[in-house]
Amino acid sequence: MNLSHFFADGQNIWQILLFAVVFLVCWNLEYLFGVSKNYNKWKHSFTNALFIIPGGIMQLILGVLFVKVLLWENANGVGLLPRLNLASNWQQIVVTFIVLDFFYWMYHFLMHKIGFAWRFHAVHHSDKVMNVTTSLREHPGETLIRLGHYMLAVWMLGTSFWIITLHQFIQIVSKIIVHSNWRLPDNVDKWVSYVFLTPNMHHVHHHEEQPYTDSNYGDLFSIWDRVFGTFRYLPAHEVRFGLDVELFDNEEQLKFKKLIKVPFTKANLSNE
Ligand SMILES: [Zn+2]
Ligand SMILES: [Zn+2]
Repeated sequence: MNLSHFFADGQNIWQILLFAVVFLVCWNLEYLFGVSKNYNKWKHSFTNALFIIPGGIMQLILGVLFVKVLLWENANGVGLLPRLNLASNWQQIVVTFIVLDFFYWMYHFLMHKIGFAWRFHAVHHSDKVMNVTTSLREHPGETLIRLGHYMLAVWMLGTSFWIITLHQFIQIVSKIIVHSNWRLPDNVDKWVSYVFLTPNMHHVHHHEEQPYTDSNYGDLFSIWDRVFGTFRYLPAHEVRFGLDVELFDNEEQLKFKKLIKVPFTKANLSNE
């Protein structure tokens, strides 16, 4: 199979099917190896699934602009990468993945550190049980900020369109895996997490108290958390998912229609 052909036309039906397979495998592994017991998985997942609607609309609108500009850049040799005269696709892939991963780390760090941005990102962190569906729980305001940031980074690079589709494909697969409720055995995680973001690392990121919430910001790789000193570890039995703020103690506040309004309320969302 030729990689560039598989990703040449953007997301196709085969890629969407692969997402569904990864999602279903992770969903079922949660029944066998999940760390959270005694919660209503279907009810919990329904709330998270509702975020697909506003998020999907936002992605569609931005996606059209994103693709149009990138294809124009590719046709006219615009961007940093065409100037580097990289000899092979692999070099272009390596540079793109490292740069975009760094931009994601910075974006995620800023979402935690800037008060206005945190009010949107806190909705993702409000989930009291983290499972594969938490990957869908993103306020549309955050989708706008995240994709805006991603688009600017990609346009600056001017990477080939198919490599960006490949990056997004791997990013989505990784998002599903790291939000899974199961963890890698600690002795395996110890080694894998030297390079890659793992479910264990992201579980720590979803712990309800600081300094753990403000750690492990990575997207695909753990290297930036290692470099900038934001890598943290907690054993499974010490992780409590959610955010330790008064607002989210109230079950009513964790319903979709209330969560959408959270960024615009006056509630204190700091768990410092
Ligand atoms: Zn976060
Ligand atoms: Zn997360």
